[in-house]
Amino acid sequence: MTQRSNEKLAGIPMAAPDISEADVQAVAEVVRSGRLALGPKTVAFEQDMAEYIGVKHAVAVSSGTAALHLLVRALNMGPGDEVLVPSFTFAASVNALLYEGAKPVFVDVEPETYNLNPQDLEDKITYRTKAIMVVDVFGHPVEWDSILPIADKYGLKIIDDSCEALGAEYKGRKIGQFGDAATFAFYPNKQMTTGEGGIIVTDNDEIARLTRSMRNQGRGEMGAWLEHERLGYNYRMDEMSAALGVSQLHRLETFLVKRERVAQMYTERLRGFSWVRPPVVKPHVRMSWFVYVVTLAEGLNRDPVMRKMEALGVPTRAYFAPIHLQPYIREQLGTGRGMLPVTESIAARTIALPFHNNLTKEHVELVVGALAEAASVA
Ligand SMILES: *Cc1c(COP(=O)(O)O)cnc(C)c1O
Repeated sequence: MTQRSNEKLAGIPMAAPDISEADVQAVAEVVRSGRLALGPKTVAFEQDMAEYIGVKHAVAVSSGTAALHLLVRALNMGPGDEVLVPSFTFAASVNALLYEGAKPVFVDVEPETYNLNPQDLEDKITYRTKAIMVVDVFGHPVEWDSILPIADKYGLKIIDDSCEALGAEYKGRKIGQFGDAATFAFYPNKQMTTGEGGIIVTDNDEIARLTRSMRNQGRGEMGAWLEHERLGYNYRMDEMSAALGVSQLHRLETFLVKRERVAQMYTERLRGFSWVRPPVVKPHVRMSWFVYVVTLAEGLNRDPVMRKMEALGVPTRAYFAPIHLQPYIREQLGTGRGMLPVTESIAARTIALPFHNNLTKEHVELVVGALAEAASVA
C-alpha cells in the first residue's frame, strides 16, 4: 500500500452518525424552550415510532439496555426462571436478565445468518424455561416462522432485542411487531441516533403501562408526582434526545438506503475472494444494515489481520466476543469453551469493517485493499 493511500485511509471512522442542520435546529429549539424533560418531544417521538413500526405503543427510555431491563421486569422474569438467549450478541441482552436474577441459557446460532438456531433453542427448553430473548443480529431478522411456533408450543414469552434491526422486515412485516415486545436503541453507532436512548414497542397495553410507569420512578399515569405505585427507575428519555429522534426518524428510510448501498459496494468488491465471506442475507428479509461483518475462512488467523489493518490506518472490531466466554459470565454461570461450537467458531473469525451512511466507493476500495494485504501476511 502506498503512502498516499495510507493518508486517505487515516480518518475513516468505524461508525459515524448522520447529523443534518435540521437535527441541530431541532435540538437547539428544545434547549431554548426550557422544557428539557417529560415534554411534548418525547410524546411526538413515541407516536412517530409506534406509527413507523406499526404497533400500538412506544415507550421511550434512556438506552436500549434500559428498554430491555424494563421488559424483563414487566414480564416478571426473576430467580428460578431460565431465559434462552444467544451468546453471539451484545452484553446488554444478557445483562438485562442478570439484573433480575433470571438465568441466561445460551443457545447456539446458525452458521450463515448468525441468528438463533431453532433446533438448539428447542433442545434447551426445560420446565424452568420462561422466555426467549431473541436477537436480530447485525440487523438480520431471526427466522420467526421457526421460533414463534416453539414459543407457542411451550408457552414462552418473547422479548425481541431488535436494537440492531430498526427498519428490518421479515416476510414484509416490520421487526418490532414480533414477540410480546421489542426494543430499539439509538447510541450514535446505530442506524439512527438520539445520543443515548432506546425505545420499547409493543401491542400489549399492560406491558406499555408497566414500562411507562417504571421508567418514571414507578409513578402511575394519573397519580400525584410523589405517588409511587411500584419500584421504578429514572430511565426517562430527555427532550433534546427525543427532538433529535423525531428529526432523525424523518430521514431513517434515506439512511437505510444509503447503508444498503455501502453494503452492496463492499459485497461486490469482496466477491471472488475465497478467503473471506461477505454477510449472508436471506431472500425473504429486508436487512437493516447495522454493521458490515465479514467472516474469514477457517485457518486464517483473525487477530493479526486486525492488527495489520490497524497499522494500515483502518479501524476494525471483533464483532461479537461471545458472552458465555466473558470473565464475569464464566465466573457466575460456569460457562466455558466447547459449549457452543458454531458461536465459538464464527466469533473467532468475524471482523466488522468501517461502516456508515456516507462511506464512498474510494473508502471501500481502500478498506478492502487493506484487508487483502493484511490477510496475505496472516
Ligand atoms: C446497541 C444494542 C443494545 C442497547 O445498547 P445501549 O447502548 O444500551 O443503547 C442492546 N442489544 C444489542 C444487541 C445492541 O446491539
